[in-house]
Amino acid sequence: MEQGAEEVPVVYLHEIKRQYTQGETKLVILDGAKLALWAGQSVALVAPSGSGKSTLLHIAGLLESPDEGEVYVGGTATSGLSDVERTQIRRTDIGFVYQSHRLLPEFTARENVMLPQMIRGLKRSETISRAREILGYLGLGDRVTHRPAELSGGEQQRVAIARAVANAPRVLFADEPTGNLDPHTADHVFNALMQLVKATRVAMLIATHNMALADRMDRRVSLENGRVIELD
Ligand code: ADP
Ligand code: MG
Repeated sequence: MEQGAEEVPVVYLHEIKRQYTQGETKLVILDGAKLALWAGQSVALVAPSGSGKSTLLHIAGLLESPDEGEVYVGGTATSGLSDVERTQIRRTDIGFVYQSHRLLPEFTARENVMLPQMIRGLKRSETISRAREILGYLGLGDRVTHRPAELSGGEQQRVAIARAVANAPRVLFADEPTGNLDPHTADHVFNALMQLVKATRVAMLIATHNMALADRMDRRVSLENGRVIELD
């Protein structure tokens, strides 16, 4: 798992515990989960529905806090950080792609990719050129002024990927990003993600049920009794 002693994982989950209380019952979802994500490496998270994949991604992406354990981003422990500091890390270091694209319907593809950059404080002109560059890179150069409803499912998902990497994150989490797509389109979207790992050395964790796609990634993990296990 170590990739050179001097290197620090982009994200390291240490002994993560997460449980939900449902009435009288306690649902222990994560129970000592550990996982290191490395720059330039794609990792597939393949586990049955309800096993805690989304929970793990949300915790690793600082969208949710664990009950116990620590999430390190670039070697920095995040549990003691303020909400403002966590939000800052989410904006600059972390990208998220969901099963449904979650694009803003009233904005064009380009505006959807500009927004996270503007929130970060970049100049409008810079956000325009960077949005054009990323959308072009993902094969959407002639779709920049389309609104989400004017795009196909695969195009919508590629815009969502462009938005997720707009601020050049160090890690990209994708929660069943091809789950709503037909096999051909899923392949296209998946290729876009793999291309980004190669080109930008972003670390990537993709929750997926698609074993064929998982097999094309650098590494496969699963969840068993609340822990992360390596497959293969
Ligand atoms: P997966 O993504 O692998 O399908 P999830 O992480 O979404 O799994 O959910 C894991 C388990 O935790 C499920 O059994 C789900 O019902 C439960 N769960 C998820 N979120 C909550 C919540 N906010 N409150 C109670 N239970 C939850
Ligand atoms: Mg899920």
